[in-house]
Amino acid sequence: MLVSSKIQAAFQKCINPDCGAEFDCGKSLFKCPQCGELLDTQYNWDKIPVPDKLNKFAKRWANRDKPLDFSGVWRFREMLDFCPDKYKVTIGEGQTILQRNDAVAKYVDMKTGCLYLQYEGLNPSGSFKDNGMAAAFSHAMMVGAKSCACASTGNTSASVALYAHSCGLKCTVFIGSGRIAFGKLSQAMDYGAQTIQINGDFDDCMRRVQEVCSKLKLYLLNSLNPFRLEGQKTIMYRIIESLGWEVPDWIIVPGGNLGNSSAFGKAFHELKQLGLINRIPRMAIINATGADTLTDLVNGKKLTWNGGRVEQKIIDDYYAELTARNFSPHTCASAIEIARPVNLKKCLRAIDICDGVVLAVTDEEICDAKAIIGKYGLGCEPASAATIAGLRHLRAESIIAADDRVACVLTGHPLKDPNITVNYHKDKLGQFSNPLIEAPNELDEIIKLIK
Ligand SMILES: *Cc1c(COP(=O)(O)O)cnc(C)c1O
Ligand SMILES: [Zn+2]
Repeated sequence: MLVSSKIQAAFQKCINPDCGAEFDCGKSLFKCPQCGELLDTQYNWDKIPVPDKLNKFAKRWANRDKPLDFSGVWRFREMLDFCPDKYKVTIGEGQTILQRNDAVAKYVDMKTGCLYLQYEGLNPSGSFKDNGMAAAFSHAMMVGAKSCACASTGNTSASVALYAHSCGLKCTVFIGSGRIAFGKLSQAMDYGAQTIQINGDFDDCMRRVQEVCSKLKLYLLNSLNPFRLEGQKTIMYRIIESLGWEVPDWIIVPGGNLGNSSAFGKAFHELKQLGLINRIPRMAIINATGADTLTDLVNGKKLTWNGGRVEQKIIDDYYAELTARNFSPHTCASAIEIARPVNLKKCLRAIDICDGVVLAVTDEEICDAKAIIGKYGLGCEPASAATIAGLRHLRAESIIAADDRVACVLTGHPLKDPNITVNYHKDKLGQFSNPLIEAPNELDEIIKLIK
């Protein structure tokens, strides 16, 4: 327990209002030692020199020779001021693009100029996870960690492995059996992580990694780690920066472990609290139908944040039922193939902050949307395409208007999961398949084939 929360700029705080315990940022805890709930990073804003205007952050980007100013995470450092500069880690994350895409807008029945795609696949390891790792590894350096670990559906392991060797930390990653996309697995091995494949799914890995980390005192890098979510807030800063510091009407994000949705809600809440924005966008969180715990709980069981007093019994009963029928989630979008999302409660808070909606889309819809993003945009991995598939539903139901301004977060790079893409096209699995054409080695025959 801490006396210093009032004198330090940043501290950790339990999200359970009936506990509210506070801890120094110099500790690595990951769950409240008093009640077991998630922890947040919180700030005493009057102790932090936050710029009075958001455009002051953007000016730093011109200092390309200064790594912290160049970083798409640390140039917003006053918004995540939990560690001294000397510990801050960057490998050039967050140089991402917000692309206006009118062709994809047409596919989802939105007006020209209204749809924007935030390409987080352009990060060093090819997914948004790098935003979070820059922040979490900085915390790891601050607490003097020597070894770290994570459970992963793929991208977390790729990002952790990259940042770990960049910081000189030993690193172990846990993956489930069979379900990891090859692009991601290849990165974990290539970046030098000790990679352990557990005979189970992601939720099993998540449970084991927490046990291993507490027994062996390894630094945990899953999104239970509140400092990771602080880095992920910056995705929202960069979106509004690219829109000339205007807030869009909607943010759409895939939902897996619900770290992003949680971080985005917190980001907007803080910006509003500080008077840096005048309104908060709405948020849509998209599940896959084969991994739709959030959708079931929010739409089906009417679970809400309820001022922090979430009805735990609804969650417990739901999970007991999953266990009873031996449920394991299944979707081609392996990054969101998660049945027990660790950030569920923070996500409920974000839904409350952003007047959020939740829905689930099928694998067929995801793959078709992915093909459209490939054909007319920069491409993405399946989980990312859930956003566009979800947006189509939200337009059809008129929850989103054709002239609303919408930003979809494309979380991972198209080359993460080449098998899904090749199979979709080669085996003509969807509406937009672009199959391979076989030709004899004869000029006239080849010419006949060219259209
Ligand atoms: C990790 C991951 C997700 C899931 O993110 P959460 O914030 O945990 O819901 C979605 N897409 C990709 C590509 C990912 O790597
Ligand atoms: Zn607590």
